[in-house]
Amino acid sequence: MRIFGAALVTETNTFAPLPCGRSAWEDYVIARGTGSDPDSGTLFGPLLALWKGMAEQAGAEFHESLCAFCAPGGRTLDVVYEEFKAMIIEDLKAAMPLDIALLCLHGAMASDSVDDCEGDLLAAVREIVGPDCIIGVELDLHLHLTEEILDHSDLLVAYKEYPHTDTGARAAELFQLAVRAAMGEIKPVTRAYDCNMMGQWRTGQEDVRAFVDDMMAAEQDGTALNISFVHGFPWADVPTVGAKLWVTTDGDAEAAERLAEEWGRRAALGLREAGCIPQLTVDELVDYLPKAPEGLIVGADMADNAGGGAPSDSSFVLEGLVRRGVKDAAVGVVWDMTAVDICRNAGVGAELDLRVGGKCSTASGDPVDGRAIIRSIIEDHCPPGLGGIPGPFGTSVWIEFEGVDVIISSLRNQTFHPAAFTDHGIDLSTKRLCVVKSIEHFHAEFKPIADEVVYINTPGALRADFMSMPYTKRKLDYWPKVEEPPIGPFPAN
Ligand SMILES: [Zn+2]
Repeated sequence: MRIFGAALVTETNTFAPLPCGRSAWEDYVIARGTGSDPDSGTLFGPLLALWKGMAEQAGAEFHESLCAFCAPGGRTLDVVYEEFKAMIIEDLKAAMPLDIALLCLHGAMASDSVDDCEGDLLAAVREIVGPDCIIGVELDLHLHLTEEILDHSDLLVAYKEYPHTDTGARAAELFQLAVRAAMGEIKPVTRAYDCNMMGQWRTGQEDVRAFVDDMMAAEQDGTALNISFVHGFPWADVPTVGAKLWVTTDGDAEAAERLAEEWGRRAALGLREAGCIPQLTVDELVDYLPKAPEGLIVGADMADNAGGGAPSDSSFVLEGLVRRGVKDAAVGVVWDMTAVDICRNAGVGAELDLRVGGKCSTASGDPVDGRAIIRSIIEDHCPPGLGGIPGPFGTSVWIEFEGVDVIISSLRNQTFHPAAFTDHGIDLSTKRLCVVKSIEHFHAEFKPIADEVVYINTPGALRADFMSMPYTKRKLDYWPKVEEPPIGPFPAN
């Protein structure tokens, strides 16, 4: 058996002020044929390594192609997307004939002129591999499902967990299903349902947890080969943005359609409210601090999450904490190459006037000026990311800034892990507040050390204001924009 594997992953916030050119991808990874190398430290390389290992165990040949990842940002330049697509197609041609093509994609990647890079890529892959090769795709649950993605694949498996702690488990499932399909043991057939809603469904929440557990139980008991509830990524002006669900059965299209409707309606009608995250403004948070129970409060600066394409240099929280005189707080990780450079030149122990954050766009607010003491500098700082994937920050610096401990970095990335702070020597157990630039992925690793988790409402590139998203490419008939949105099979009959 001959199996092909490639990974091309980014999440495009079409409203973000950060174009993703080649250097933005190079800052993370562009590895061709080497992404699975355990020493390469590449994001999504571990998933290719997993497939490679499973292929070896199954006595199959594994043909590894591109492993490319860019931190979520604005649209990827057309020329960069076309280069990656050409690499994958060239490697596919060289690897033919193939029984299985496995792709690790995001599902919400857009280039300057292609709203659905994944659908476009899969169409090109199908053209090369032919109708009999099984095309299996692992996708982030924040994808935009399109007809093209459905039409040009045999198997789709999306992450079920948010935070995405199950990338490896889903990759393994996809591999096993693809092998069974290639051997003729199963004939996957998929039907989808449009839940027509925007939200953020944290799988730690009771209702969402129960739904995800039920999906997994239905896969276990043989009801379906796969059930995926996909949230969509609301910060993208593309035609199919919004939550959807699909069911894959073994050769039974009618059952797939019936189950997609059953589960899709359950998600659409039962999880709407759960998709809204209660939030505090910065001033409300500062007011709450003296009243809150003892211990560490972890606050998510959701609207400035690099993982959703935001600059991660917004100053709204830091400005509020400095203005209100909060001292026992830590904030991170703020992307500020200029401030990092100044700190590197000054060295550890130096004290200087510094301008922090607020540099990328109006969504970043104004910079905050203050007195900084440089406490620690780490070059090539790479604390753990998500699900075993590294979370690099380039050079990171701990500054004591007007009494607040702030981590600034030269590489834009989401704050996934307390090590972003503790690697510098910050003892978070002595803090009252730790603010992280993340929507939800921080939760997996910060929850165990937090006495309370709160979500902060700030302006920014990812403001969760789904009532006023400036969409131009889809109807404005989704929940919560309308009370009773139309829901039904996707694509609509
Ligand atoms: Zn995601």
